Amino acid sequence: MNTLQDIQALRLHGVDDGSPIIIAGPCSAETEQQTLDTARALHADGVKVFRAGLWKPRTVPGSFEGVGSSGLQWLQQVKRETDMLIATEVATVEHVRDALAAGIDILWVGARTSANPFAMQAIADALQGHDEVTVLVKNPVNPDLELWIGALQRIMGAGITRLAAVHRGFSSAGAHIYRNDPQWHIPFELRRHAPGMTILCDPSHIAGKREFVEPLSQLALDAGFDGLMIECHCNPDQALSDSAQQITPDELHGILNRLVIRSGAPIDDELSMLRQQIDDCDHELLAVLARRMSVSREIGSFKKAHNLRVVQPARYQDVMKARLEEGRQLGLDEDFIQRLMQAIHEESVRQQLN
Ligand code: PEP
Ligand code: MN
Repeated sequence: MNTLQDIQALRLHGVDDGSPIIIAGPCSAETEQQTLDTARALHADGVKVFRAGLWKPRTVPGSFEGVGSSGLQWLQQVKRETDMLIATEVATVEHVRDALAAGIDILWVGARTSANPFAMQAIADALQGHDEVTVLVKNPVNPDLELWIGALQRIMGAGITRLAAVHRGFSSAGAHIYRNDPQWHIPFELRRHAPGMTILCDPSHIAGKREFVEPLSQLALDAGFDGLMIECHCNPDQALSDSAQQITPDELHGILNRLVIRSGAPIDDELSMLRQQIDDCDHELLAVLARRMSVSREIGSFKKAHNLRVVQPARYQDVMKARLEEGRQLGLDEDFIQRLMQAIHEESVRQQLN
């Protein structure tokens, strides 16, 4: 069995010149015109790898699910015209077969697929004997490093050596600043397991909103990622998928000019990794607090409608007692939990009275 350390750094046929690898293009190829317009603009800006999804795995049915194999000829046209390398997503054996037959250079496996070992094995089997192709494996939607490593190992097992990982954040319930929780310690941990492997960052899918793409890109480069996959559309507001996070080729051009490539050791040393984990925890805490206050306001309306008193001492005593016990079991200081719960309760009462 190959180990992750065996993976050679991804070599993008001369694109990998030591500067960050930039992959850009629309979330989805929608029409021939939109695909070519976007590709031409990106090529003019010096982008060397073009991405476009043809088969779109959407969380809920009914939204745009991609143009399918019929878009392969548009991607071939982009390749002929611009000589950019072409990347598209594959999720099934049929996608792999069609993409390979069309001469697609780079296949990426999306986050919903890399979470499924059966699908990964089927894709790996379909790739057997095609070591000319480059494969990118996005992190699974679940924040589970083992699952991500397992997905990479299955592809390696098929004899693919041009292999890289893409960090696109993790699904998490509730309101968050970002669409997908970055949990940076997970790709950093992957780097520790596979120091030689190329790891790219997809700031677009982490962000969910275009204004976060630039700061996340800078953070990713500072953290030592080898490149970025960024969603770009010639008319983002009209995009049929992921409209809010796509940027124009012009905006990408501006971002690429502003990004600072720092020399020296990346910041993925132990202290930075730990700080990043603290940031992740704080984001979670704030999101949970916001959810709790929103439930409080609903309770406030209910009490008002039913003419109930806002503060009910018996309920407060029960909640406090239960939380102190839970805190004790988690090894948390009793005095600290008491002060924390009091502060939360006070704010909750204030919200209910408003
Ligand atoms: C995409 O890149 O458009 C995509 C669907 O990505 P992910 O699998 O990361 O959601
Ligand atoms: Mn997308």
